[in-house]
Amino acid sequence: MVYYDQKWETMPLDDLRDLQLKKLKKQAHHVYQNQFIKKRFDDSGLHPDDIKNWEDTKKVPFMTKDDLRDNYPTGLVSGNWDDVVRVHMTSGTTGVPTPMVYSKNDLDVWTRCMARNFVAGGLKKSDIIQQTHGYGLFTGGFGFHYALETIGAKVIPTGAGGSERQLRLMQEWGTTVFTGTPSYAAYIAEFAIEKGIDPEKDLKLRLGFHGGEPCSDELRDRINTRLGYSAHGGGMRRCYGLTEMGGPITMDCEYENGIHLWADHYLVEILDPVTHENVADGQPGELVISNLSFEIMPLLRYRTGDNVVVSHDTCQCGRTHPRITKFVGRLDDMILVGGTNVFPSQVECILLNHAELSENWQLVVDEKKGLHSLKIEIEPAAGISVNEAFVTALEKELHQILAKKCPVEIKAVGSLPRFEGKSVRVVDNRSS
Ligand SMILES: [Zn+2]
Repeated sequence: MVYYDQKWETMPLDDLRDLQLKKLKKQAHHVYQNQFIKKRFDDSGLHPDDIKNWEDTKKVPFMTKDDLRDNYPTGLVSGNWDDVVRVHMTSGTTGVPTPMVYSKNDLDVWTRCMARNFVAGGLKKSDIIQQTHGYGLFTGGFGFHYALETIGAKVIPTGAGGSERQLRLMQEWGTTVFTGTPSYAAYIAEFAIEKGIDPEKDLKLRLGFHGGEPCSDELRDRINTRLGYSAHGGGMRRCYGLTEMGGPITMDCEYENGIHLWADHYLVEILDPVTHENVADGQPGELVISNLSFEIMPLLRYRTGDNVVVSHDTCQCGRTHPRITKFVGRLDDMILVGGTNVFPSQVECILLNHAELSENWQLVVDEKKGLHSLKIEIEPAAGISVNEAFVTALEKELHQILAKKCPVEIKAVGSLPRFEGKSVRVVDNRSS
């Protein structure tokens, strides 16, 4: 097994836990220098000196996205502003952006976490990578780029879009690794076929590092086949991260049995979103993360709003750090339709289990005389025509799993939107 940081990546779990507690105590003192956070601690009756054991850490107040919005842009900085060398933030298209500011040391921690991920995912120095995550305010592009260079791999920093050129470069340079969102990977596969390029024969892609949006196992299987990753002996590795913790920070290793979270830098808790009690391994709960290593704007006990399942068993790769083994969905993305909770990721799992259907779909939520309804619009797979009996059976399956009627409308191939970045799967036409 090849590691980037073997000593740290395979550290016994008990030693990791001791290290985490030590770092959490130190970080609590550090963030206490920030006026907003100090007030939060004081209001909850906790002083950083009171944190002695794991039980005490449960008293550390939570932070949320609203805290970031309310304190935009620099209100949550606890480190020295003079040490800041870079700023990233979310696009802010749906409100106030979520910012992150970094010192040189913060960037080094981030780069190191990402370098571990790439090596765990099977990336080699000899690989040629087309890096299509956007370079700019979004954390993805630079987060990937610097780690890839650190490993010594060969990066072609194309950024997003320009699919014709992306395919041309893949052929000219013999690109072996492709990065970007899962929906862009699915789109590139479709576009290649349209252009008469067979990824398995005409391209050399063996690894894909895809993140920035949820990806079901079904979609990953399709990307592995369509882009030739499996045929070339590799596969797609899912990537997860969030601007609030620095950016993309975690990925699948080559065993693809869960996304490794680096416990020497991030403390992970899985909590019941209502009672805030820890849930057992294997049970879904809200992912709450503490940044143990950043110095400028670390957040402790940040409620991510992601509903996940985590395992603390040592992975087959020998890494001892916890793994996210399942994304149930973003609590934010969950839509409430007529009293029923629906996760778009759950819908994707059902749809992509059918080879007759393409990965181009959307969930339309409508309102008529105060009644809310769901509908799925989806294109069939290329060259396939689906009949009424298939649609009826699919509607029945959706009804059983979602506990909600959900008619399916088959659309013409090419009629639904394609995405070069994050996909938008829900069209909500309701007035409120
Ligand atoms: Zn592993």
